[in-house]
Amino acid sequence: MDKNVKICIIGGGPAGLSAGMYLEKKGYENYTILERLDRVGGKCWSPTYNGRRYEMGAIMGVPSYYAVHDVEEFCGITHDGPKLNRNYKNAAGKVIEPFNPKKNPLKIPRLMKMKNQMKKLAELLETKYKGYDINGHRGVAEGRYEGFAVTPGREPVSGINENLKDLALPFKDFCEKNGVELVQDIWIGPYTSFGYGYFDEIPAGYVLKYLDFQTTMNFVNVNLWTWKEGTQWIWEQLNDHLKHPARLNSTIEKVERKDGKVYVTVNGEVEEYDKIIVTAPLYIPGTRADGQKGMIEYFDARPDEIELFSKIDYERYDVQAVLTKPEDHPEISYYVFDNMVKERLGHLMVYYRRWRDEVDQVITTYALRKHRDMPEVGYDECKQMVIDDLKTMNNPASEVINEWTVYYFPHVFSADYAAGWYDKVEAMQDKYDTFYAGEVMAFGDMDETAEYSRELVERFF
Ligand SMILES: Cc1cc2nc3c(=O)[nH]c(=O)nc-3n(C[C@H](O)[C@H](O)[C@H](O)COP(=O)(O)OP(=O)(O)OC[C@H]3O[C@@H](n4cnc5c(N)ncnc54)[C@H](O)[C@@H]3O)c2cc1C
Repeated sequence: MDKNVKICIIGGGPAGLSAGMYLEKKGYENYTILERLDRVGGKCWSPTYNGRRYEMGAIMGVPSYYAVHDVEEFCGITHDGPKLNRNYKNAAGKVIEPFNPKKNPLKIPRLMKMKNQMKKLAELLETKYKGYDINGHRGVAEGRYEGFAVTPGREPVSGINENLKDLALPFKDFCEKNGVELVQDIWIGPYTSFGYGYFDEIPAGYVLKYLDFQTTMNFVNVNLWTWKEGTQWIWEQLNDHLKHPARLNSTIEKVERKDGKVYVTVNGEVEEYDKIIVTAPLYIPGTRADGQKGMIEYFDARPDEIELFSKIDYERYDVQAVLTKPEDHPEISYYVFDNMVKERLGHLMVYYRRWRDEVDQVITTYALRKHRDMPEVGYDECKQMVIDDLKTMNNPASEVINEWTVYYFPHVFSADYAAGWYDKVEAMQDKYDTFYAGEVMAFGDMDETAEYSRELVERFF
């Protein structure tokens, strides 16, 4: 593509800002990033309390976050945050050690079986499911893999593997099919409690591309990255290092694509571009109190865009930032596995103590309130359930200082995944001078979204 092509990027989160970085690295400098809010970072949101930043959104990374590492190199920064720590409680608030055989003598046979199944899954992923872990979902429904290896060099890889079609199955069914159902006890920690839904509803493709074997082991061994100034700081740094930082407070009223040009009406003015990259939500079912809209509502959306994007659903994931009295402050972060099942929708799944050296600091709480087969738990009801759960955990909140319900982890379900949703959308890239990137195209984490932007630039520019 002509290096002077004029590109509009919608969204100043990890996907949009890294698209800018990778375009720049490839010599495309005629780009503009439009961000609707007065800050960059999107779901990496790190406000300040009592002189320190806490996390309302993304918290951590792993050593295989190669795209995030590219950003760190580009900006000359590193992951310098507090060490993560965790313990476990049951729904009654009692501290437990679910994986310690000495504490659970009756569970020893199950724990042994789980260990063996972990080994078995590791082998299956290397052999039967070769190609499962590359970024994005191209070809999976057709039994192919195509993309770039998950290595620092990201070598191009492709191949035929009919078994990959199994990735369309809900993760629970995938595990049962392969005789490794107990591995869900391990995967659920960094999956459901991180807001990515339940294993009986989410296709294995999402679960395993995010939690590939190596990444899961990094979670198990707490080999994780954090950033002292918060994950938002990564993207603030990137924004500061770009030739064209994001234009904040940009309200896009309309996007029209005609005669090989893209006309974007932003804050009342019409701007002309050659190409547009959308990293903002493609579709949002229903209405949201925060005013966010899917692209098909403000674009001159075409029938194929409407047809495909209206299949997207997302998770209702709620975060509260609370303070406690000093004597009620939890000494560590806690995971509550009992609450990670759909029967306990709306309950507290994790609470995170970020700054262990300071008591006058924020605790953040996490709850999911939607499962596709169940009535949604209301926002206020869920908020109250979490507050009540904190009391049960013996860490009652004295005050809520921040809260949000996130447009989280957009995805499609198994039937659409199996019917080739991703290949149909990939075939539409550039069809209307429009490229689709951001969470739904790969997975809802910082690295997968940034990595997808890297690939998009690599493939089309
Ligand atoms: C509570 C929570 C915990 C998380 N934990 C982790 C974690 O530990 N590790 C991890 O890697 N990831 C984590 N994530 C996920 C990670 O933050 C997201 O996957 C990532 O931020 C997605 O990047 P994105 O750019 O695709 O989307 P977003 O971050 O959502 O950015 C999209 C941007 O587009 C803007 N936008 C939307 N609509 C428009 C419009 N019409 N015009 C202009 N701009 C628009 C938004 O304001 C936003 O800035 C977490 C997220 C949350 C909420």
